[in-house]
Amino acid sequence: MVMIKTSSQKRLTSFYLGRKCIFCGKRKVCLTSRGYVKCSGCSKQKSLKMLRKELAVLVAFTEQRPAYQVASEHGLHYYTVSRIFKNLRDLIYYQCELEGKRLSGNIEIDEAYFGGKRKGKRGRGAAGKSVVLGLLERQGKVYTRVVDTITAEQLLSVIKAKTRKGSVFHTDTFKSYNSLHQFGKHFKVNHNQTLVDKNHNHINGIEGFWSYAKHKLYNYRGVSKANFPVYLKEMEYRYNHLSV
Ligand SMILES: [Zn+2]
Repeated sequence: MVMIKTSSQKRLTSFYLGRKCIFCGKRKVCLTSRGYVKCSGCSKQKSLKMLRKELAVLVAFTEQRPAYQVASEHGLHYYTVSRIFKNLRDLIYYQCELEGKRLSGNIEIDEAYFGGKRKGKRGRGAAGKSVVLGLLERQGKVYTRVVDTITAEQLLSVIKAKTRKGSVFHTDTFKSYNSLHQFGKHFKVNHNQTLVDKNHNHINGIEGFWSYAKHKLYNYRGVSKANFPVYLKEMEYRYNHLSV
């Protein structure tokens, strides 16, 4: 059967010519008469309608929109969208760990508590909360890790694995950081006295990340403790790559 292209189809075909193939990256894409985007490089094809839906779901993820809303907008099942979101988070988690180049230079270190009951003990030793150790390279990236305890042994093992020896460490006066001087220079900032002293000794950068992460996580209206680590890595990825 010979298909006769209408002028609008011709326009569409030329529109997709020169676009990148999502499978092989070659710019040999055209639109078929059945509404498929086809690559003459790898001969793979995909429905344009499906491609548009998938892109819309991806954009919705970056905008932190709820899965049920995205599902109803695009005529998809809730579970389909939430599974895509979950897969994206898993990918981001592994990507963050893969990127894990050792931090160097001036590094700010601090721990923070997420989740748990609103009332009750706050700060160090609060029950039911997730404890996170954060390392931030000034003018660089942030690295986070959920930890079970905040003993010197546990914190230092993460710091040792994720930073270069000879870095300059900035922490508060928490005792678990006391032996950091064996890895490099160690400055302690005393919150009771001053937030920034004359030697640029402060941990405002990592504290900025904590408030960024808490603000962004609030959009999800509560994350279970079991799922928290992947959501935390999503915040790390957003902070390092998207700033949205
Ligand atoms: Zn291709």
